[in-house]
Amino acid sequence: MLYDLLIIGGGINGCAIARDAAGRGLSVRLVEQNDLASGTSSASTKLIHGGLRYLELYEFRLVHEALAERELLLAAAPHIIWPLKFVLPHEKGLRPVWMLRLGLFLYDHLARRKRLEGSHMVSLKGNALGAPLRESYNVGFTYADCWVEDSRLVVLNALDAKERGATITVGTRLTRARREDGRWIATLEGGPEIEARALVNAAGPWVSEVIEGALHAHSRKHVRLVKGSHLVARKLYEGEHAYILQNPDGRIVFAIPYEHDFTLIGTTDVPYEGAPGGVSISEAETDYLMESANHFLRKPVARGDIVWSYSGLRPLYDDGSLNASVVTRDYAFDLDAPEGAAPVLSVFGGKITTARRLAEHALDDLRDFLPPHGEAWTQGAVFPGGDMEFDEYLVSLKAERPFLGDALALRLARAYGTRAERFLKAAHSTADLGRDFGCGFTEAELRYLAENEWARKADDVLWRRSKLGLHMSAEEQGALRAFMGG
Ligand SMILES: Cc1cc2nc3c(=O)[nH]c(=O)nc-3n(C[C@H](O)[C@H](O)[C@H](O)COP(=O)(O)OP(=O)(O)OC[C@H]3O[C@@H](n4cnc5c(N)ncnc54)[C@H](O)[C@@H]3O)c2cc1C
Repeated sequence: MLYDLLIIGGGINGCAIARDAAGRGLSVRLVEQNDLASGTSSASTKLIHGGLRYLELYEFRLVHEALAERELLLAAAPHIIWPLKFVLPHEKGLRPVWMLRLGLFLYDHLARRKRLEGSHMVSLKGNALGAPLRESYNVGFTYADCWVEDSRLVVLNALDAKERGATITVGTRLTRARREDGRWIATLEGGPEIEARALVNAAGPWVSEVIEGALHAHSRKHVRLVKGSHLVARKLYEGEHAYILQNPDGRIVFAIPYEHDFTLIGTTDVPYEGAPGGVSISEAETDYLMESANHFLRKPVARGDIVWSYSGLRPLYDDGSLNASVVTRDYAFDLDAPEGAAPVLSVFGGKITTARRLAEHALDDLRDFLPPHGEAWTQGAVFPGGDMEFDEYLVSLKAERPFLGDALALRLARAYGTRAERFLKAAHSTADLGRDFGCGFTEAELRYLAENEWARKADDVLWRRSKLGLHMSAEEQGALRAFMGG
């Protein structure tokens, strides 16, 4: 089979390009060596944000594009994306009030905003927003960005791509590709050769490995791997708001309410030289994040409060910066298209937030190499399950299926939106959904994930299609592993 586009990598960028291209009528194949979102795209801070700190780095193009995406994505996936209020405490001796005010003024005005609140200066004394903080914090600012279930956004991109005709295969590594007669002939590990008119290298941290190892090519652009880690602690404070904490080293660290019972603390910027994959938090990063949180919080976080951590590699476009914290967060493409030969577009950098726009730009760059196809269409297009107003949908789900109970109805509405109906079908009790593996995760839900969302192993389910790994007991997880055979 000859595909128009072969995409390497099932992270946010590869899946967003697959969705966009399939919707334009192109024939698309995407291969992912492990699970969807098993690379960087499940290890982010999970914010759809403009990136307040990037203003200091004069990244106005990126901030403008990212800010504009916030409301668009909020409307397109209201189940997995929701507004999040941030509190930025002013710290004497760090950024002065006028500078914070100026930054937030720009943040408020760099892109159109209808649903998200603008910034305000607030007193932290006698205010619930200031209650978790040490007494020395008198004033701060509030502003809004959005929360996103990052790995679910990846899967919804893939699902939408599939429903528009793309073929997505997980557990499939591209090992080699060569150019022949104006086409790519690609070898997939353990599989047949496939042909494509154009290749997209969206391998994230592996982007250079694919260029040099699989394509035997060279790129004028290079990737800079920067590790970032997060801690998950038992809930450190009450309230639905997050904190953006300024560090004396000029960096910022977020503390964010997470999965109802926890607080997420992150992140770090650590230059990384090794092979991509399998990264984990170091003692030094744990100390750094704990110190950062404890500098601000009245009730300090102790080692015993930490229940989980995760790390990922930012596949940044190497702009030659000396300091890992200031390497550009914007994306760049390398389009290698020698006269008469099939093209490959390699993606460097990119955020969860900007993946939809990145996909549009990638297809603009590839347009002349592909058969005639449709125009950009994803602006305003809803993701699977997002065709509803969230609060109304939750009320109706609870009313129609009272047996779910409030907590499970909320979890299912958040995870699947209206797609939950597909496995709840005619169920009148939880018993109708088959075996309950714990936390209301039933055989019916598992079957839906396996048949529709490419879930093959227990970790796919526990840590990427959901975060049930934080909630299910070791025994429950063991039983799920035994049932799924791995
Ligand atoms: C700590 C941290 C915090 C972040 N926070 C945010 C945030 O809050 N908001 C935001 O918008 N962005 C954030 N980001 C940025 C964002 O997460 C990344 O830029 C994005 O996930 C990169 O996606 P990707 O698709 O390029 O790479 P990946 O998600 O890594 O996907 C690449 C995929 O390619 C696959 N692959 C590699 N080689 C092959 C091969 N030969 N064959 C088949 N498959 C292959 C890999 O298995 C992998 O799944 C953060 C990043 C980090 C690290």
